[in-house]
Amino acid sequence: MEKLEQVYEGKAKKVYKTSDKDLYIVSYKDDATAFNGLKKGTIVGKGVINNRMSNMMMQLLEKKGVPTHYVQELSERDTLVKKVSIVPLEVIIRNVSAGSFAKRYGVEEGIVFDEPTIEFSYKNDALGDPLINSYHALALKLATKEEIELIKTYAFKVNEVLKEYFLTIGVKLIDFKLEFGKTADGKIVLADEISPDTCRFWDAKTNEKLDKDRFRRDLGGVEDAYREIFGRITNK
Ligand code: UDP
Repeated sequence: MEKLEQVYEGKAKKVYKTSDKDLYIVSYKDDATAFNGLKKGTIVGKGVINNRMSNMMMQLLEKKGVPTHYVQELSERDTLVKKVSIVPLEVIIRNVSAGSFAKRYGVEEGIVFDEPTIEFSYKNDALGDPLINSYHALALKLATKEEIELIKTYAFKVNEVLKEYFLTIGVKLIDFKLEFGKTADGKIVLADEISPDTCRFWDAKTNEKLDKDRFRRDLGGVEDAYREIFGRITNK
């Protein structure tokens, strides 16, 4: 399958049409942004790692009963996916306090929750992706009630599967962001990516950050952190 016309260029990926109207190719870049695009940079090798890692996670999740957009890895940076219309919600699951949760509620990072939390942001760059609840999402007609329920169910299932998986490679899954899409036949599937760009990973022993927070917070060792987590996954 070959890339035809580019349909979209996002912060970290490009999307292309293919000769099949129901399939797109996503191509992962090394570009990194944070704080709604205010901070920009390059993380060398990130595109390759995020592509490969995301595909491995999508395949694991499919096996565990979560439908995804994944079809086939085409190359280091390119993957064939189902064409979907993205539900304009960022779905965030948290197991441990960090990032905007810690800031918003004035608590330290690293508090382990008894139960995972879920929250939604309205995917809208102009508005800065504001936090919304499922009633607001329904009012804004971003998805139906049934779709929102299904998204919640899938999101918690993804958490269970990934939490368990990452512990086997000595990594705590702190929080992550998911996006869902709707296929041509109206099915809700997990879309976008699962990578150190979209998840917080802490080393299980040292709590060292192995994710994009190293870039966001200028902690150094950004490329090494991406390589470390990817190495643990591929050497498993
Ligand atoms: N996240 C993301 N994209 C966003 C916002 C958040 O992938 O636009 C991920 C982020 O990497 C983290 C989780 O979602 O794993 C929770 O992020 P948080 O709400 O704490 O926001 P942040 O502190 O990153 O601004």
